Amino acid sequence: MTGTPLLAVERLQKAFSGVVAVNNVSMGVGSGMIHGLIGPNGSGKTTLVNLMTGVYRLDGGAVTFAGERMDGLSLFQVARRGLVRTFQNPHIFKRLTVRENVVVGAHRHFLSGFWKIVTNLGSARAEEVAMIQRTDQILMQLGLAERADELAVDLPYGMQRMVDVARAMMCRPRMIILDEPAAGLSEVELEHLARVLRTLRDAGVSILLIEHHLDFLLGLVDLVTVLDYGETIFEGTPAEVRRDERVIEAYLGAANART
Ligand code: ADP
Ligand code: MG
Repeated sequence: MTGTPLLAVERLQKAFSGVVAVNNVSMGVGSGMIHGLIGPNGSGKTTLVNLMTGVYRLDGGAVTFAGERMDGLSLFQVARRGLVRTFQNPHIFKRLTVRENVVVGAHRHFLSGFWKIVTNLGSARAEEVAMIQRTDQILMQLGLAERADELAVDLPYGMQRMVDVARAMMCRPRMIILDEPAAGLSEVELEHLARVLRTLRDAGVSILLIEHHLDFLLGLVDLVTVLDYGETIFEGTPAEVRRDERVIEAYLGAANART
């Protein structure tokens, strides 16, 4: 990669009660890229994302996003700077419609404002109207427009994940980190997710994609980082990753052995 990456982590370190979850990990995600992060269960992927986005405190190392240090900031402060993430399980507000679930992304920390919008759509102020318009634009982009007024819990699982992504988009992110967004999706939903991710990338949003579904991931990403036991064991293109002995042993081999 040439130039400074948009997201750079250096020598990240994290242990839980003495058990090392992330050990000396350095990696960069470039602007305008879809970057994959893979590794066996428990290899430290989610912990790494939690360190990148202010959910966990680092034991050591540095996280820099768009030239600014993120370590020490909260999840919300990191999101305000343009780095947002979704969680492994979709966060759905059960009693809210799809549109309301997405609007809340802009108002997560101003719930009074949010409830005012939800309960007073008719008398919303100009900025609130703009927010609804932005919401509808994102719903359209992610293929959710037709379901906007349904309760989000009534949607199929794959679409609930899209609601999560749509909500993350409300922050106008420069980068989205998606933690296993394809888990439990049907083939049709996978294709839709792939289209959405390419659309976001083409619109200038960089993506860090954590995914177990290897064929799905390798078909989408520009570069892949592979973790094993909390350490980076490989970084390269999808073609290189398929050929690397360590990766085959740690990951692909294990996957093949199960089948
Ligand atoms: P992955 O996402 O690659 O499956 P995780 O980052 O979830 O891996 O986990 C890495 C290691 O850290 C595992 O051994 C896991 O048990 C441990 N771990 C993760 N989060 C916590 C936590 N909050 N408390 C204690 N141990 C944790
Ligand atoms: Mg995980």
